[in-house]
Amino acid sequence: MTLRFADIDAPKPTRESLKEAHAAIGALLDRGDQPAAFAAWDAQRRAYESWSALVHLRFAQNTQDPVAIADRDYADSLAPEATECEVAIKRRILADPDRTTWERVAGAHALRLWACDIETFDPAIKADLEEEARLSARYTSLLAAASIEIGGQTVNLSGLVPFAESPDRAVRYQAEQARWAFLAAHGEELDRIYTDLVRVRHAMARTLGYETYTPLGYKRLRRVDYGPADVARYREQVRTHVVPLVSRLLEQRRVAHGWDRLRFWDEALIDPAGNPAPTGDHDVLVAQAQTLFDRMEPRLGAFFRLMNEGGFLDLRNRPGKAGGGFCTSFPTAGVPYIFANFNGTHNDIGVFTHEMGHAFQNWESRNQPGIDYLWPTMEAAEINSMSLEFLTYPHMELMVGAGAAERFRRMHLIGALAFLPYGVCVDHFQHEVYARPDATAEERHAIWARLERLYMPWTDYGDLAYPAKGGRWQAKHHIYASPFYYIDYTLAQCCAMQFWVRARRNEAEALDAYIALCGRGGSAPFGALVDSAGLMSPFSAGALEDVVKEARSVLGV
Ligand SMILES: [Zn+2]
Repeated sequence: MTLRFADIDAPKPTRESLKEAHAAIGALLDRGDQPAAFAAWDAQRRAYESWSALVHLRFAQNTQDPVAIADRDYADSLAPEATECEVAIKRRILADPDRTTWERVAGAHALRLWACDIETFDPAIKADLEEEARLSARYTSLLAAASIEIGGQTVNLSGLVPFAESPDRAVRYQAEQARWAFLAAHGEELDRIYTDLVRVRHAMARTLGYETYTPLGYKRLRRVDYGPADVARYREQVRTHVVPLVSRLLEQRRVAHGWDRLRFWDEALIDPAGNPAPTGDHDVLVAQAQTLFDRMEPRLGAFFRLMNEGGFLDLRNRPGKAGGGFCTSFPTAGVPYIFANFNGTHNDIGVFTHEMGHAFQNWESRNQPGIDYLWPTMEAAEINSMSLEFLTYPHMELMVGAGAAERFRRMHLIGALAFLPYGVCVDHFQHEVYARPDATAEERHAIWARLERLYMPWTDYGDLAYPAKGGRWQAKHHIYASPFYYIDYTLAQCCAMQFWVRARRNEAEALDAYIALCGRGGSAPFGALVDSAGLMSPFSAGALEDVVKEARSVLGV
C-alpha cells in the first residue's frame, strides 16, 4: 500500500497534552524502566515533530493564508513549552548514574547531543524564544510578499532568478536593479528586524551564562566536535585556495565576453552561451528524474517513485509561497517531503539532486534507534545533499539534453567553487555581528562591505547603491532565521567535492560509500561521519587544496 502525504495525521498538541505525556514518561523513569521510558518519549517526540513540520510546511506553501498563519503562530508559541519538557527529561536521563544502560538504549552520541541541548535552554528564555520565532517569521513574510514587475510579468523573488541569469546583459541588470530596489524600499524594516534578532539572541546568551551569542549559537546547532577557531581556519583555507581561482575564472569570463568590467549582474551568467536550462517543465523533469534515479541505483529509483506517487513533492512556484527549497520530514510516517519553487532555470535540477539527497538520507536512516539519529547535524546533512549533486553528473543528459550536459557540469563546478567565498563571508559576518551586539545598522553594513572586499574582491555593483553600501547580506534568509548555519554548506561542499573526485576514479565505489553514509544518518558527530565515509575532514590541512587542484585541472585554469 502506498503511503500518501494526504493520509498523514498529526494531532494538534496543547500545553496540557504535552505536560500529561511528559508526566507519563516521568513515571516510567521513576520506575527505572529505561527502555520503556525511551520508547514512550521517542514516540511522543515523533508525534510532536510531525505536527510541527506539517504546520510549518503549510505556512511555507501559503504565507498569506490566515489559518496557516494562525497555526504557525500557535506552533511557535508552543515550541518553548515543548523544549522545556524535553530538556527536563534530558536532564533527568543525564543525571541517571546508570549511564551504561542509556548508552545501550539510546546510543552514546544521543547522550552527547542531549548534554549539548540542555545548555541551550532555561525556562527564563521562553519569552525570548517566542520573540525570535516571531521576528524570523516576519522576515520570511516580508520577502515572500515581494511583487516585482519585469519583462511584462509580475514575479516574486524566486521568479526573478531567470531574469537575473538571462543571457541578455540588460535584462540581468534590470533584474538586479529591481531586486535591490525592493530591499532598499524595506531597508529600515530589515535593519530593525535584524537589530531585534541580534538583541534577543544576545540576551538569551547572557541569561544562560554565555559571554556572547556565538557559543550558544554553536550549541544550538549541536556542534559537539569543533568550534569557532576551526571554522576560522577553514575560512582562511578558502581565502588562500579558492578566492584566487574564482578571481581567475571571472577574469576569463570578462575577456570571453569582451566586457571592460565584470559587474555584479554578470556573475550569475556562468556559461558564456547561457546557463544550460532544464529540458522541460515540471512534469517532464519529474519523469526524467525518475529515469535518472532508476539508472543510478535501484534504491534511489524506488524511493523517488514512493515520494512522487505519495504526493510528497510540491515543486511549482506560486504567489504567496515562501521562497527557496527545503526538505522536511514527518517522523511518524517516515517519508520526507520536498518543497521548492521551480523557475525554469538549472536551479530546478537542484531540487532532484540536492533536496533528493536530504530526503534519501532521511529515508535510509528511518530504522535508526531514535529521533535524534534521523537527521545528522546540518553540516553533515549537507554532505548527503551536495554530494548527490556531483554523483548525478554522469546522467545530466536526462535533465538538460545531450548537447548541454558537459556545459552543465562545468557550470555546476564553477558555481560550487564560486559559492565558497560567499559562504564563508556570510559566516564571518555573523561572527563579527554577534561579537558586537550593540553595533548600529550602519556599522553592520560596513562590516559586510569590509568582509566582502576580503573574500570577493572582484565584486563591482556599478550603480546598484544598496548592495554597494553593504546591504547584500539582507537578502540571505539564513542570516536572519538560522544563525551560524551557513558555514555548513561550505564544509559540506569540501566533502561533496571529494565524492566527485572519487566518482571520477570509481563511480560504483563512490555511490556505495555515499549510500552507506546516508544510512548512518545522525548516529555520529560530523567528524566521525566524514571519517566513516573515507573523506578528509575539511578542517584538516590539504583537504580543500586537493579538491581545488582537481577542479583546476578539469576547468583548465
Ligand atoms: Zn541542503
